[in-house]
Amino acid sequence: MSDRSVTESKSAESRSTGRRQPVFVLVGGTGDLALRMLWPSLAMLDQDGFLAEDLRLISIAREAITHDAFIERVSAAVTKRSGDALEDGTLKTFTDRLTHLPLDAYDTEWGAKLKAEIGEPENLDIVFFLSTSPSLFKPLCERILEAGLNAAPNRVIIEKPLGRDLATSKVINDSVAVAFDESRVFRIDHYLGKETVQNLIALRFANTVFEPLWNAQSIDHVQITVSETVGTGDRLGYYDEYGALRDMLQNHLLQLLCLLAMEPPAGLSADSLRDEKVKVLKSLKPINASNVLQNTARGQYGPGYAGDEKIAGYEAEKGSPSNTETFVALKAEIANWRWSGTAFYLRTGKCLPTRTTEVVIQFRPVPHALFGTEATPNRLVIRLQPDEDISLTVMNKAPGLSADGQQQLQPLALSLSLINAFNGNGNKPPRRRIAYERLILDALNGNNAAFVRRDEVEAAWAWVDGIAEGWEKAYPKPQIYPAGTNGPTSAYTLLDRDGRVWND
Ligand code: NAP
Repeated sequence: MSDRSVTESKSAESRSTGRRQPVFVLVGGTGDLALRMLWPSLAMLDQDGFLAEDLRLISIAREAITHDAFIERVSAAVTKRSGDALEDGTLKTFTDRLTHLPLDAYDTEWGAKLKAEIGEPENLDIVFFLSTSPSLFKPLCERILEAGLNAAPNRVIIEKPLGRDLATSKVINDSVAVAFDESRVFRIDHYLGKETVQNLIALRFANTVFEPLWNAQSIDHVQITVSETVGTGDRLGYYDEYGALRDMLQNHLLQLLCLLAMEPPAGLSADSLRDEKVKVLKSLKPINASNVLQNTARGQYGPGYAGDEKIAGYEAEKGSPSNTETFVALKAEIANWRWSGTAFYLRTGKCLPTRTTEVVIQFRPVPHALFGTEATPNRLVIRLQPDEDISLTVMNKAPGLSADGQQQLQPLALSLSLINAFNGNGNKPPRRRIAYERLILDALNGNNAAFVRRDEVEAAWAWVDGIAEGWEKAYPKPQIYPAGTNGPTSAYTLLDRDGRVWND
């Protein structure tokens, strides 16, 4: 039997059992995101037995590439991304599921041509992933609607950039809402697919030791750092429109902030979690023209190094002057009962010395200095990148005697390496999954807890818009920092003003 007839007989089987056949339609299936992340994620899910046997994978793009050339392109991308993790036989099983359709989002026959390939919607359970520029979401959702491919249980995955401010974000959300109600719109923030980010929820709510201390009475401040060593590369055209505030802070850093600061949800259902995240976003004290200079630092990399590579600096790469920031640091405050008095410092930037994603929870000092020397306050460090580990610094008495008879104290870290901890019985450590694997699997299963709800995106934009508008009035030009250093000096002044330092 040919591969196509195997698929057809599986669809017939699905129909006879009354079960809808699952179909994953990846619009933009030849693009960078699809080839680097999405097809490799699906291939790994397939290898690990997570995909339904009859799941079909449809790629759509304008390019009229032949079936064989498409399979070759996807196979090369999966092989490159998966490396040693790819097992014999995976590619064959995986690519047997694939079909590429050359279709333009503006082609009014789009829906009819797709249905000619996959069949009538009442027999199908379709997940659309729109991996294209958001400017195509409107025509694509119109095509899906016209063809009647939008009815439940069908759903859609979209990915950032979801606008560059609240107004443009609403336009994008509205264009998708034409075809899909909110419960079937899956907005990806790929940070939410990372193991350690999910582990933040477990760390907070599956342990009793932290939660009683998780408040302004015990926590002095929190630092969230996402640093990259690379510059903007071939994304400069896109990046220049957005900058670090809109590209990184509005989504990834604010999502981390929400998970750290939210109240315990009533359960782990999508809405329980997301209701709590929205409350955090709505409790953020506004930053605007009146206080933006005190509460933010804005930088742009100049000449220096991106990793080992000597670079000319952002404006030289662009070839014209630019006011876009490649670095942002800010002090956020959450005006609620739990957090009033605790500062949350967020920073992210490009061309920094290390690639790190890290959260530092800095506890307050002991109330009374019982020992001669000052006790270093406890510090919980949760590192997501490059390694996934958690460490808690606790004070100890250093062994031995001292001439003045005082106890000598020393901070030591209780450390947990997640990769080693789950490497029991001498087995190979678990493969580090691509964040998209979990998110795609959740979308296939219809679980949207790790996706971002519309009111979350809009609350985040409403807050970020205040900062962007404040910058326009009060802080038009970012401060230049040499590429390869820790960002502009104003980022250090931001903490210095409060008597604090970054955890570099
Ligand atoms: P890309 O490399 O430019 O790919 C775009 C895809 O859309 C291609 O397959 C393209 O194929 C297809 N396409 C373009 N116009 C079309 C049309 N009129 N009808 C149907 N298909 C069309 O972009 P990308 O980097 O993959 O990014 C896709 C989206 O994800 C963008 O919004 C991007 O900002 C976002 N994103 C990307 C990354 C990343 O790492 N790349 C990360 C986060 C978010 P044809 O030209 O053949 O039609």
